[in-house]
Amino acid sequence: DARRPIAVVGLTMDIPLTTAALLRRVDTLFAHKAIVSREADGRLVRTTYGACLAEARRLAAAMRALGVRPGDRVATFCWSHARHLQAFYGIPASGAILHMLNVRLPADDLAHAITEADDSVVIVDAALWEAFAPVRHLITDRPFVVISDDGDVPAGAIDHTSLLAAHEPHEFPEPDERAGAVLCHTSGTTGRPKGVLTSHRALVLHALTQALPDMLDLSERSTVLAAAHLFHANGWGLPFSCALVGASQVLPGARLDAAGLVELLESERVTHTAGVPTIAHDLLAWLDAHPGHDLSRLRTMLVGGAALPEATIRAYDERHGVRLLHSWGMTETGPLGTLARVPSELADAPADAQYAWQATQGRPAPLVEIRARAEDGTLVPWDSAAAGELEVRGPWVASSYFGSPVAGRPQAVNDTWTADGWLRTGDVVTIGPTGAVSVIDRAKDLVKSGGEWIRSAALEALLLEHASIAEVAIVAVPHDRWGERPVAIIVVAPGHEAPTLHDLHAHLADRVPRWWRPDTLTIVDTLPRTSSGKVRKALLRQEVSPPR
Ligand code: AMP
Repeated sequence: DARRPIAVVGLTMDIPLTTAALLRRVDTLFAHKAIVSREADGRLVRTTYGACLAEARRLAAAMRALGVRPGDRVATFCWSHARHLQAFYGIPASGAILHMLNVRLPADDLAHAITEADDSVVIVDAALWEAFAPVRHLITDRPFVVISDDGDVPAGAIDHTSLLAAHEPHEFPEPDERAGAVLCHTSGTTGRPKGVLTSHRALVLHALTQALPDMLDLSERSTVLAAAHLFHANGWGLPFSCALVGASQVLPGARLDAAGLVELLESERVTHTAGVPTIAHDLLAWLDAHPGHDLSRLRTMLVGGAALPEATIRAYDERHGVRLLHSWGMTETGPLGTLARVPSELADAPADAQYAWQATQGRPAPLVEIRARAEDGTLVPWDSAAAGELEVRGPWVASSYFGSPVAGRPQAVNDTWTADGWLRTGDVVTIGPTGAVSVIDRAKDLVKSGGEWIRSAALEALLLEHASIAEVAIVAVPHDRWGERPVAIIVVAPGHEAPTLHDLHAHLADRVPRWWRPDTLTIVDTLPRTSSGKVRKALLRQEVSPPR
């Protein structure tokens, strides 16, 4: 029988793709390579991968002593510095799950993330202790470990330095490659943030792909400064890509201001940096105002998380000789989804054609597949014209949310996944004949300001509590620095005076972060609605957007 399976001998080894295996290489070959970290007091601390991983192993031993078992969550509430990186490496490699909390989340969202994850231990920066105060009561029975520069920690908390000193480095076990390694919460369109749990295997494949020449082009010769915090989408996967190839890393601490970043880019001879468009915008303004800086070492500035304007790409190239690399991704996609490296066909094309390509979100990374679906449910042709919602799949793309009732069921059909298991991104795109994606709109009802989400629905619900507001819609309008800012469009309640912007801010004070407050208020008689009663936000956005 020709179809009878043959007994296979000599098949390749089945080595688990784990972060522990990834770290073994850097520890063996690149232990001497530099990790430079800006600490809370502004000092630059120089260490090495070898020292960082030894501390990561001590941390793993300490966590075990505190009762953390494989699969338990350990939360961090920290900026981007060497001791956070030790946790980044040490917690997953020890078999536990690293839960990085976004320090900018509103308190109730943070509370939700902590409760959902049921974190066993929380590691907090001393400088963020007060910021963490509103949710601290949720975890009274769990140990707090505080990272401080002077060993001065709040009563009841454990000092990170003494804790590590009290433990011998613990060899990393070999976790299951399909076990969860890193958990990040992202803003949901409605309701609370959603947990995205990434497996070891996904992290390793993501790290490997991201380092490729057509992606970030990372190597042992690279020095990488991520101007995106570790708690954003797995630190954009950069710490694992760097460890995989042995690239040096520069961690900017809490400050992502332009002057501080340029200082580090120059002094550490950084070859690759990465950040959201707001960072690129601020850096450009600073460089324009302070000529004479030498960024000749900087080969790549990866910009993603929000749309990168073509004018910014042009300005960097023409005025500072820096080529920006535009990328699209989501927390749910690891984050690497697509990336716009100029293809060989355009190598000799005029600069304008190259800038236009770079302003698209680019082509899918290897192993990531894309398609776009029109409102009528059909897949759109790749003709740069037909628009549809982008759908993706790939080995590092989330298949469900952490803790969701559908977790683990491949056929989960809900708002976010299609029946055949592709992730619905909520981004409206066109796709070109060679696979270049252009994001032209967003179906999800959120505002992205400076790379952080503002939940329109949550703001609207709070504003509706104001007596003078009968109806309200929050829409995003383009903003040069922040990318987008929220505008409140209001129908005044009968018998009430129209509220002022100041009234709205007073109403929202202490209930949402400052940067969530709308910049502009527009009063209208009625809100345009669809036949099913939904506010037509796309129409409102057009009406309130300043002419470009
Ligand atoms: P997050 O999960 O917070 O990283 O947000 C992911 C979302 O950010 C995507 O679904 C897009 O709406 C938006 N986004 C990310 N990168 C880009 C980009 N290059 N251009 C336009 N929007 C982007």
